[in-house]
Amino acid sequence: MIKIQDLHKSFGDLEVLKGIDLTVNKGEVVCIIGPSGSGKSTVLRCINKLEEPTSGTVVVDGHDIMAPKTNINYVRTEAGMVFQQFNLFPHMNVLANVTLGPIKVRGMRRAEADKLGLELLEKVGLADKARNYPEQLSGGQKQRVAIARSLALQPRVMLFDEPTSALDPELVGEVLEVMKQLAEEGMTMVVVTHEMHFAREVADRVIFIDQGVIQEENEPEAFFANPQNPRLRDFLGKVQ
Ligand code: ADP
Ligand code: MG
Repeated sequence: MIKIQDLHKSFGDLEVLKGIDLTVNKGEVVCIIGPSGSGKSTVLRCINKLEEPTSGTVVVDGHDIMAPKTNINYVRTEAGMVFQQFNLFPHMNVLANVTLGPIKVRGMRRAEADKLGLELLEKVGLADKARNYPEQLSGGQKQRVAIARSLALQPRVMLFDEPTSALDPELVGEVLEVMKQLAEEGMTMVVVTHEMHFAREVADRVIFIDQGVIQEENEPEAFFANPQNPRLRDFLGKVQ
């Protein structure tokens, strides 16, 4: 579903990604962990070209994002993204936030979009909030709306960038639960997270990025029980 080869990204003189190779298969859940500033968000943002890679190749569901003929807006609908900040439209109710994409991007009729939107809100446990406005929701509820909004474009892969980092601790679980459910339904997911329990339980593979390269990559059991890279051992010692 995603194939990244020798991805480099610099911001001016700062080389943030120094040759990332990463393949994500259909239905796979890959969690990315690593210190702040190590380039985790930059990797995700390069996948849907929110950042322009400096060099390397990124192919998403067969679309080479660097190729001039590739319609990047189409690729972005295939790769839904959920951010730490939910970025909901404050002046639109929950249902309208979810249906905006299908109506504007897919040209769906309102009745059909509303039906889809209500189904998705049901899925994230918020059907009863459809007519509420974002400011009336908790952080956990807003993030679940943001997930429903991404799903409304029927993406083939979901990219999550620290989706629970801005939440009060007691609200983290409800968002992780929705993500876990998505994973169980077979969604291909790349998740940047500090939630080690989630990574251990839900990921098929965990990746440690540090100093712009993938330092370690393994299935979760071995990754956490038997880390090889000293920097990973140090990192896990600090966060666990
Ligand atoms: P992480 O998500 O792992 O915390 P990021 O990918 O956000 O790290 O950032 C990696 C590095 O790139 C940081 O040093 C950050 O300051 C820098 N960086 C990220 N985005 C930009 C940008 N748009 N312009 C300049 N520097 C950036
Ligand atoms: Mg980040």
